[in-house]
Amino acid sequence: MADREVETDGVIVTPVSRYHSRHVGVLQAEHEKIEWRAERPRADRVRVREHTCDCKATFYELCQAGGLMFIRRTHRVMGKATVSESPWVLAKEAQELWLGLLMGSAR
Ligand SMILES: [Zn+2]
Repeated sequence: MADREVETDGVIVTPVSRYHSRHVGVLQAEHEKIEWRAERPRADRVRVREHTCDCKATFYELCQAGGLMFIRRTHRVMGKATVSESPWVLAKEAQELWLGLLMGSAR
């Protein structure tokens, strides 16, 4: 993505305005519908592996808990955050879903 850090000959150039992480892609007409559910604390330790930029009202995090992974969606409206989760699945499946989300083929 163009607004991320770029590495040229070992020198990392960070855009000066604001550091943006990845943004989700434009949603494709045909896309996989993610079964979002209310957040449920099921694990003591959840690690965030990747996340999209929080400059948007809705941002996503790829989370890992034990051997399973899921996507957490945070939607902010008027200062209130609503958190939802995708189904908890095996890492490979979750990573594919994450890529689909970034490319706009899943939402
Ligand atoms: Zn951003």
